[in-house]
Amino acid sequence: MLKTHMCGELRTEHEGQVVQLAGWVNLRRDHGGVIFIVLRDREGLTQVVVSSALSPDAHKIATEVRAEYVIEVHGVVHKRPAEQITPEWPTGEIEVEATAIKVLNTSKSPPFYIYEDSPVDEALRLRYRYLDLRRPRMQRNIILRHKVVQFIREFLDQHGFLEIETPYLFKSTPEGARDYLVPSRVHPGKFYALPQSPQQLKQLLMVAGFERYFQIARCFRDEDLRGDRQSEFTQLDLEMSFAERDDILDLVEEMFTALIPTVTPEKRILSPFPRLTYAEALARYGSDKPDLRFGIELVDLTEAMQNSGFGVFSQTAQAGGQIKAIAAPGCADYTRRQLDELTAIAKGQGAKGLVTLAFRADGVKGPVAKYLSETELAMIAEKTGVQTGDLVCVVADDRPDVCARVVAASLSALRLNFRDQLGLVDPNLMAFGWVLDFPMFEWNEEEGRWDAAHHPFTMPRPNNYEAMMADPTAVLSDAYDLVCNSYELASGSIRVHDPKIQMDIFRVLGYPEEEARSRFGHMMEAFSYGAPPHGGMAPGIDRLVMLLANEAGIREVIAFPKTTQATDLMADTPAAATERQLKELHLRIVE
Ligand code: ASP
Repeated sequence: MLKTHMCGELRTEHEGQVVQLAGWVNLRRDHGGVIFIVLRDREGLTQVVVSSALSPDAHKIATEVRAEYVIEVHGVVHKRPAEQITPEWPTGEIEVEATAIKVLNTSKSPPFYIYEDSPVDEALRLRYRYLDLRRPRMQRNIILRHKVVQFIREFLDQHGFLEIETPYLFKSTPEGARDYLVPSRVHPGKFYALPQSPQQLKQLLMVAGFERYFQIARCFRDEDLRGDRQSEFTQLDLEMSFAERDDILDLVEEMFTALIPTVTPEKRILSPFPRLTYAEALARYGSDKPDLRFGIELVDLTEAMQNSGFGVFSQTAQAGGQIKAIAAPGCADYTRRQLDELTAIAKGQGAKGLVTLAFRADGVKGPVAKYLSETELAMIAEKTGVQTGDLVCVVADDRPDVCARVVAASLSALRLNFRDQLGLVDPNLMAFGWVLDFPMFEWNEEEGRWDAAHHPFTMPRPNNYEAMMADPTAVLSDAYDLVCNSYELASGSIRVHDPKIQMDIFRVLGYPEEEARSRFGHMMEAFSYGAPPHGGMAPGIDRLVMLLANEAGIREVIAFPKTTQATDLMADTPAAATERQLKELHLRIVE
């Protein structure tokens, strides 16, 4: 090795030792006869002193090196004088007095500073990702990711799981997105699909008798990349045979409970993870991925407003609509502008408007307050638990088909807005929770048919299968999510292992029998050879590491992410294929 120590390693106890370091020039300060070089490698920083009097050759080279040059330093460890100690650095009490320096490689002047985490345009960062990744924050994130994955591997190994790879070149495995297709050279006109998850393959591994499987699996989904999504992302994919729902939840909960303090000791978790049904999560938080770190729960005023003096409320209640509210602590003095912002947030989620009631010491204020009787105001106060100084936000919607969704989404958005505005949460608290009993199907308005809410291999809840063919609306599935701090961190389900039930689900989803057989015949065939009961789930690694690293987006924890346009700015991908490649693949580009 070209180094005896890492740059984060030397301490006062190494004083007097002859050492050799190698790394990048983080900074260089030239004081004439003495040059200071801050040398950086993966583990940290070390100050190198080069004196023209003591080492004229090394000093000459030091005058020529620039930021990001790669150098090898030979020298002796010295304690720094008290006034020169840098307490923020683990190596801040020592420096290395250079006896020789060798330039291993030069560097052009980088397009942004590596040595500090100053904001840089993301396109530039992605174009020079290898330089961006040199920056301390990105190094920390990628190292944290490694630790998370290593922990998971060891934990699951100890719990009897086998790590098994599954193919990328496979068949359409729907998870609700478009497939990436790969044309076959050998079979003209035929395509592989990159799996949207290894879902089918892991179930087939259960049929194959492996009983406990996991994989750090890449998933490919050709989605519109709105928000913080990637066309390829990583899941911890796992599956267990002879397990019931609670066995899977308990195992994953145990894993996260052990993982968090190991990799991020500064984070706190709440144990045990609370369990909510999907219906309860929507009723209390307006979201199926609630932030459980704070209150401000939704309350239902529909019943109480049946005969309200405010026409909109009474009509909404009588028309079968919904009226719900939240109380924001200490916001009774919000200005006109702030209230307009709240209204815009609610409207952004489809609400027709927002009613605000400021509970002040001198009475309840707000444009609608005068239409509400004392009794109504008292009922609102009692239900929301509002205190003097708080602001109640009410959303009413009279459209029976959308009211539940609109009211929930608007109040949930307002709830999260108050969380951020009022600084209600501890960023170091990881508030996990289980959301259970999801609906089995979702109505796809555009295509006029049912979609699987999770995926088509999910089992209905016990006693729900019988009703499924008659009324898909009411059927609950044995799907579950792990949520944390308003993110969905994992999804999973107990799977169908009976070919008849699987075929019936395809029927509800409107697949003609023939299509179901050609797309998924292999699954149904496999299920007819003694498939064990099984289930599993898949926590998203990118999202998990993002939360642990206190980052706002998953691109910050992926070494080489794509842009929101699904491009790679560094390698300039996707790119055109050559005529010859197209010909080999039997493809023609039609403009
Ligand atoms: N395959 C599912 C997904 O990708 C997870 C699972 O059901 O295990 O979300």
